[in-house]
Amino acid sequence: MILRYLVPPHCPLCGEVLDVSDAETLCPACRGKWTAVLCEPCDRCGSPARRCLCRPGALKKRENVTLLSLYFYHHYDSERLGDRLLYTVKRQDEHPALPFLAGELSALLREHAGTYHLSLRHWAITYPPRSTDARREYGFDQARDLAKAVGKACGMPFLELIARTGGTEQKTSGDREENAQAAFCRKRNTVIPDIDGIVLLDDMVTSGATAARCVDLLRAERPHLPVIVLSAAKAQQRVKEENKPADEPWFI
Ligand SMILES: [Zn+2]
Ligand SMILES: [Zn+2]
Repeated sequence: MILRYLVPPHCPLCGEVLDVSDAETLCPACRGKWTAVLCEPCDRCGSPARRCLCRPGALKKRENVTLLSLYFYHHYDSERLGDRLLYTVKRQDEHPALPFLAGELSALLREHAGTYHLSLRHWAITYPPRSTDARREYGFDQARDLAKAVGKACGMPFLELIARTGGTEQKTSGDREENAQAAFCRKRNTVIPDIDGIVLLDDMVTSGATAARCVDLLRAERPHLPVIVLSAAKAQQRVKEENKPADEPWFI
């Protein structure tokens, strides 16, 4: 606590010096915007993202897969704090926004584990690596860094189970499932330990194709392994499904 007075903390989102007398992790302006981002309701079920269990089509086809997200994504609209945050953690290595996001994701995961009585000590965390092109360009892998930090905060082992086969980042929306099929494989010489389930950290979920591919890869070795896809943001599920009921949680 004394350290907070010696080294004044900065807002991880805008860099402004924080008032040391309150325990807030964000400046008042960012706190207001962040709350608004978290409160945006799902177009299908009306819940904010953290309570919404709606999944894109690729994930709906798999059983025992829960998608947990902090907020909804709007195609890199730089005016939106949520989109800007993702843009920053993908492009700026060691930016304080990454530990902030990891903290928020850890809290969401712990909340979910508490609700459904999951013992995270018996779970592990892994991630789909970003393309080698992107890793070369930016010098780091944000999903890896986030997965490591969330694993540490939640007491879960961090495992590197997925590898990248192709070099390029997915950019087109067409054939996403086919692209994901070719882009990822199981990392060689790794085994899935005896765990109750696995958390797959994918910072942004749109079509769900990447996460679905990873689920299939993990289940080729451990059929029925429960998976929680933990993402900072997911796309709204507007497509022709507005009248369908919201997904039910599978843990109960
Ligand atoms: Zn701020
Ligand atoms: Zn929903």
